[in-house]
Amino acid sequence: MVPGRSLPEAAATGDDPARSAGWQRELRSAVRTADALAKELRLSDDELAGARAAERSGFPIAIPPHYLSLVDRDDPNCPIRRQIVPRAAEQHISRGDLRDPLGEEAHEVAPELIRRYPDRALLLVTDRCAVYCRFCTRSRMVGGGGGARSLVKLAPALDYLRAHPEVKDLILSGGDPLTLTTEKLVAILRAVRDVPSIETIRLATRVPVVLPSRIDETLLAALRRFHPIWVMTHFNHPRELTPESSAACERLADAGFPVMNHTVLLRGVNADAATLAELFRGLVRLRVRPYYLLQADPVSGTGHLRTPLATGVALMEALQGRLSGIALPKLIVDTPGGLGKVPVGPDYVVSRGDGVTRFRSPRGVEVDYVDPE
Ligand code: SF4
Repeated sequence: MVPGRSLPEAAATGDDPARSAGWQRELRSAVRTADALAKELRLSDDELAGARAAERSGFPIAIPPHYLSLVDRDDPNCPIRRQIVPRAAEQHISRGDLRDPLGEEAHEVAPELIRRYPDRALLLVTDRCAVYCRFCTRSRMVGGGGGARSLVKLAPALDYLRAHPEVKDLILSGGDPLTLTTEKLVAILRAVRDVPSIETIRLATRVPVVLPSRIDETLLAALRRFHPIWVMTHFNHPRELTPESSAACERLADAGFPVMNHTVLLRGVNADAATLAELFRGLVRLRVRPYYLLQADPVSGTGHLRTPLATGVALMEALQGRLSGIALPKLIVDTPGGLGKVPVGPDYVVSRGDGVTRFRSPRGVEVDYVDPE
């Protein structure tokens, strides 16, 4: 047993320490306690109080070595550090904060299966992540216990999918599905592929960013058999585009996985146009499509990390015309209560007349578009 890792965690990921791969050893050596964090970083009083509170809260700390190596050890305002080191403000509930902002518990149609749209659903295959992001929408349940979900536990969800062939697209999430052993992940994918109506599978994962060694040839060979699989990853800052994470994305792309990226807009992390432009351009160079720029969900205790909606709109305006379409994600608000995602952005319409719409162009010049007769 590696210090800092509990017995239940070993059982949850299902790995046998004697046979574990490099990525599993890396995961086991993640920093998980306030004391371990204080040995690695010069913590502010605010961070130390936050880390101690996190240990008691049920929303744990985990920072694997690769991601920790990106953190500025002396600067509490480091954009990587703000994502993963708890602050005392996590205990503060701001206006509009919700424990379950997307109403996932109300949309749970079978154990571990959430359905908020007609054609797609979300299967929570584990509650474990390689890293615990302090802004996580599912902070109410990730790292909370239970670990990898067994096929027995997932059977009612699979029965539901069989009985609802209108669901075509299944997102494996959690927790992070790539923290499961390859064997467990393959067993789940095989069971999902046994549901004939499921056309596409998506893996929602931060592993390429925080634990890139996990994206190895063994994993790719195992997953390739279940194509079409899309990988939905989650880079928030250009400093995360390391040689290791870049190589992980390129391996995924080379193995035929379309890779899409969600970026969460976060105060003190990426809420400026130059940072986002550098991130989105860097992703496109790796063949990763910047897909959504997400307005942070109003999760309890994240007010210090969220930006006003107007900030995101102003950033989109600054990026529009400066980045090519393939590098420009949609700005999305996932409406509270789980009522669905809505795109938001600057309004370019100046007036609407009889078959004539006047636009403000990205160059600032007004121009008419005339409808056909
Ligand atoms: S990796 Fe994803 S699910 Fe896990 S804590 Fe971060 S945002 Fe939440």
